[in-house]
Amino acid sequence: QYHKVAAENRELYNLVQDLKGNIRVYCRVRPFLPGQRNVQSTVDYIGDRGTIAIQNPTKQGKDQRKSFTFNKVFGPSASQEEVFLDTQPLIRSVLDGYNVCIFAYGQTGSGKTHTMMGPNNPCPDDWGVNFRALNDLFYISHERQDVVRYEVAVQMMEIYNEQVRDLLCSDGTNKKLEIRNNSQQNGLNVPDASLHPVNSTEAVLDLMALGHKNRAVGSTALNERSSRSHSVLTVHVKGTDLTSGDALRGCLHLVDLAGSERVDKSEAIGERLKEAQHINRSLSALGDVIAALAQKSSHVPYRNSKLTQLLQDALGGQAKTLMFVHVSPDQDSYGETISTLKFAERVAKVELGAAQSNKESGEIRELRDQVAYLRDALARKE
Ligand code: ADP
Ligand code: MG
Repeated sequence: QYHKVAAENRELYNLVQDLKGNIRVYCRVRPFLPGQRNVQSTVDYIGDRGTIAIQNPTKQGKDQRKSFTFNKVFGPSASQEEVFLDTQPLIRSVLDGYNVCIFAYGQTGSGKTHTMMGPNNPCPDDWGVNFRALNDLFYISHERQDVVRYEVAVQMMEIYNEQVRDLLCSDGTNKKLEIRNNSQQNGLNVPDASLHPVNSTEAVLDLMALGHKNRAVGSTALNERSSRSHSVLTVHVKGTDLTSGDALRGCLHLVDLAGSERVDKSEAIGERLKEAQHINRSLSALGDVIAALAQKSSHVPYRNSKLTQLLQDALGGQAKTLMFVHVSPDQDSYGETISTLKFAERVAKVELGAAQSNKESGEIRELRDQVAYLRDALARKE
């Protein structure tokens, strides 16, 4: 019976997937922080069809306004719940045996950790994607408990300077871990990273607090370190059909990426320069992999970074990828904002075109958005 339901779910999932594409890119603009009131934003316009327009703060004129289109844009007032809403179906598909990757991309301070984790010690309203995803996962597995038994286990790792480290090992050792792709054993790509069975959101919260603590070890300030390393929370799900005994495996990677800001080459030296180069290389490798997948290219360059090697099984094929790109509205961030949006557009462009072209062309969409924008501007004048 479970297999029938799972098969139906798969069919529906594939249908939705065909419509929406495997790769989705959402943009999120963070609000100004307390104390930053009345500051001018570089974000000039957000359309309800996924368009965002950025104005160059130092030069006026219409040609200084650049617009970008994604699957959706969340403005500064979007709640954590709203942002999670479209992610929910992906959680269900993990329980149906699919692999899913969710990324937070953006410069340091743009809101990546806010989206993924929420603030420190969040109340449920402030919960980020991580907690909501796990909460849903446990909820749905409970719903299905008469037909399938689910086992959920998590790993949490950090990739720093192209080295993989376990954030949940109890002795806090700094052992460097190997990635073993195709190791079918338990479906684990990093078999030596500790694996923690969990059956409640609270248990996961505790583990994440430990991971957070371990991340700070060996670095002067947690913020510094966390902005220069990628953190990967992996949720492994095994479902066993209670009647037939057949098993299904799915996994969910929740990735808080290193800050994407470019480091001034003339200023960075030594360790700082090395970090910057590693981050740069791994973020471009990720961009290359997603772009190759979106273009259905025959060669996908997974081997170019530890990050893409680690996530290989969950990028491409039937797997689903969701990327939240974060924008800081500050005028000082203009340069980084444009380069963030360009990165995201490269990743999103091909699939956006393919998935939505049967509805209307990009140009028509753009014009439609401009009309809406002008109407809006007119209304404000009146
Ligand atoms: P990052 O992880 O990209 O470096 P953070 O998530 O730490 O950035 O966000 C930087 C600051 O902005 C934090 O103080 C965070 O609480 C705040 N912040 C980010 N996004 C939002 C948001 N959507 N709503 C309210 N505060 C936010
Ligand atoms: Mg962060």
